[in-house]
Amino acid sequence: MSSIALDDAAIVADGLRKTYTGPPGEIPAVQGVDLQVERGEFFGLLGPNGAGKSTTIGMLTTLVRPTAGRARVCGIDVASDPVGVKRRIGMVAQRDTLDVELTVEENLEFRGRYFGMGRRAARHRAGQLLEFFSLGERRRARPFELSGGQSKRVVIGRALMHRPDVLFLDEPTAALDPQTRINLWDLLRGLQAEGQTILLTTHHMEEAESLCDRVAVIDHGTLLACDTVKSLQASAGAESVVTVTYEGGPLAVEELAGRPGVARVESAAGQVRVFAHEPEGVLGRLVALAHSAGATVTDITHLRPSLETVFLALTGREYRE
Ligand code: ADP
Ligand code: MG
Repeated sequence: MSSIALDDAAIVADGLRKTYTGPPGEIPAVQGVDLQVERGEFFGLLGPNGAGKSTTIGMLTTLVRPTAGRARVCGIDVASDPVGVKRRIGMVAQRDTLDVELTVEENLEFRGRYFGMGRRAARHRAGQLLEFFSLGERRRARPFELSGGQSKRVVIGRALMHRPDVLFLDEPTAALDPQTRINLWDLLRGLQAEGQTILLTTHHMEEAESLCDRVAVIDHGTLLACDTVKSLQASAGAESVVTVTYEGGPLAVEELAGRPGVARVESAAGQVRVFAHEPEGVLGRLVALAHSAGATVTDITHLRPSLETVFLALTGREYRE
């Protein structure tokens, strides 16, 4: 990787690794992550619980010290200049909370003052952000008076006080109800439209799909793929995935592999999974095979192209949030 690429990108991670040493032994939480996020990009780190998302975002935001590898944010090395990095980023941790002693606007203003803004500048910026987040009327409210969605907006607003180049959000919608989540998506899209570079982690495929320019899929501390949602879907090599679970058998599934429109067939005890470009007829054929084998079909799922089918194709496992 050239040094120009390093300095132009908003985020560059190179072999980033974190091994926690706990009482149960060593936990390889992140096992060599490489990624590059361009300025202005909306980038998603998608993975199930325990995949290593928080550890990765923690290393990029200087809160977690890497065991190995390097990362640069806005061209600044996270290990050698954590303070320099902190000045350029806004971070919203999953359990970030507001200062309960302060009003909404004071929470924002204090953050601005912490970053060296003058009193007036901080007040002006806080007012702007509260308007942007439709919180103008709640500016004198105390944190305990806010709904979950309002609190999240205030926390994000607070992270933006010092005009960070890159905004990091760790599962920003995890605790929100579906409607509030969708409202927040609109706000985040609005931020990107104004030029904000955003990296968010999520375990919701739908969230990654609907917000992100590019998505990195992470599981067990390893990046499985990193591309646009469209390309990821195409790379799964299938338009749909049909999974049939059965008792008895086994099914003579070999013939399916040669069927036109079928990309791949995976067969394990009691389960057959078919990746198909043209799923028409696949399901019927599977049921017929089960019938001739004297097996009982207990479950059938048919997934349309989505990050879910991508995850299945990459790991052979169903995605569990
Ligand atoms: P995610 O955010 O994707 O749920 P995490 O990065 O929090 O994943 O965790 C990745 C792995 O590292 C998990 O196995 C988790 O239990 C472990 N882990 C996370 N933080 C710590 C820690 N401070 N000490 C020890 N193990 C940790
Ligand atoms: Mg996490």
